[in-house]
Amino acid sequence: MKKQAISEPAHLAVDLKELKLPSVLSHWARLAEEALRTRQSPQEYLADLMHVEVNDRRERRIARLIREAHFPVLKTLDGFDFAAQAALDREAVLELADARFLAEHHNVVLIGEVGTGKTHLAIALGLSACQREHRVRFFTAAELANALVEAKEQKKLARRLEQLARYELIVLDELGYVPFDKLGADLLFSFVSRVYERRSLIVTTNLPFARWGEVFLDATAAAAVIDRVVHHATLLKTQGESYRLKDAKRRAPRKSRAAAS
Ligand code: ADP
Ligand code: MG
Repeated sequence: MKKQAISEPAHLAVDLKELKLPSVLSHWARLAEEALRTRQSPQEYLADLMHVEVNDRRERRIARLIREAHFPVLKTLDGFDFAAQAALDREAVLELADARFLAEHHNVVLIGEVGTGKTHLAIALGLSACQREHRVRFFTAAELANALVEAKEQKKLARRLEQLARYELIVLDELGYVPFDKLGADLLFSFVSRVYERRSLIVTTNLPFARWGEVFLDATAAAAVIDRVVHHATLLKTQGESYRLKDAKRRAPRKSRAAAS
């Protein structure tokens, strides 16, 4: 079929730039040609064109949210081998992926030994929240404690806490791996108190609650944190051997046979 030439109306490009409609700018001509070819009505053409802009804009927004979340790597629930975590409540995890827990200021606590997929799950749930257009920020607990200490030293603590309160979900990874100093512990405690019932947290830890006192250097503070975080929380336990180790062992036999021969 003969392709009809579409000439660009004067001012269109300038107007679209002014209106910040980049996807309309890059797609109007192609869709106009298609509309002529398929005898699409002007109103259908307009609707399709607007739809492209809306979809692209949403994708750009999600990409920005994912960048701003500072995930150390990207992990998904699709990439999580639930068979390797038989005791983990798969349904509960999948339900959290719809991110509705954010509206209820609900928390998630992931407890388990090293290498059992806590960080993977925390990132995957955070990513899922970004894809539903929520503001998320990932920190290791040590990073956040250091950031708060630094902000306090620069007399910018109030402003930093205000910035953090704009996130709907904060992932606090690896609580318990590194003990904080007293100031870090106190500031982290006041952060948790502040977000309590206003925002959501996903906390990952290798320590059972009974040992959180070691992290906060104070049994009373620890009890208060546990009380606040766990009050509205889904508790998920991961267990078993380190997935990395298991993965390595699964690959190893070939190598060791080769080595033995
Ligand atoms: P943790 O935070 O509990 O120490 P990670 O989430 O960092 O463990 O897991 C270690 C590595 O193993 C990561 O690369 C992670 O993606 C992978 N992993 C762990 N458990 C699983 C699983 N059940 N399915 C797929 N990958 C997993
Ligand atoms: Mg981890």
